[in-house]
Amino acid sequence: MNAAEETPPNLPLSGEGQECTTPLDSSPDKGRPGGVSLSDEHWMRHALTLARNAWQQGEVPVGAVLIRDGEILAEGWNQPITLHDPSAHAEMLAMRAAGQTVGNYRLPGTTLYITLEPCLMCVGAMLHARVERVVFGAYDPKTGAAGSAFNLLQDPRHYHKVLAVQGGVLQEECAALLQAFFRERRAAASAKPAAE
Ligand SMILES: [Zn+2]
Repeated sequence: MNAAEETPPNLPLSGEGQECTTPLDSSPDKGRPGGVSLSDEHWMRHALTLARNAWQQGEVPVGAVLIRDGEILAEGWNQPITLHDPSAHAEMLAMRAAGQTVGNYRLPGTTLYITLEPCLMCVGAMLHARVERVVFGAYDPKTGAAGSAFNLLQDPRHYHKVLAVQGGVLQEECAALLQAFFRERRAAASAKPAAE
């Protein structure tokens, strides 16, 4: 995502989120969009809780979790302002932490869950890391590089290819969190007294 962006992504409106009561299941479930499993929704819900950490720090609320063999390898949430780091997007921090944990910059066999479609920078890092599968929540028509604004993630010219990409998992909840954040920020800005 592009955290420096002052205007919110053009995200669809959505209603309230719903509680996760479904058991873990790695098999795709009938009635869900193609390729989406209950475990995808489970991990996306976890990424959403991480996104709320970002909000508490005044950052655009995006969360990411990296999974290997059904377990959490690393987590991250958007923190460019806090860390004075333009590269401190949620998924970058998750990949960095995972690299430190496993002692390798390559992360084969992993699935990366992000609440917002990744930007060009993050997709580049995913390709270097050889992430196997990418699952994201809300689409980002302005800067998304997994098919919305760019389709860098699945460009056939890459030597390494991300094997699978799934967008729109818990899309409404992921988008609603971002919309609520920007709504609150706009309200806070308009509540400030005039400069003169
Ligand atoms: Zn990014």
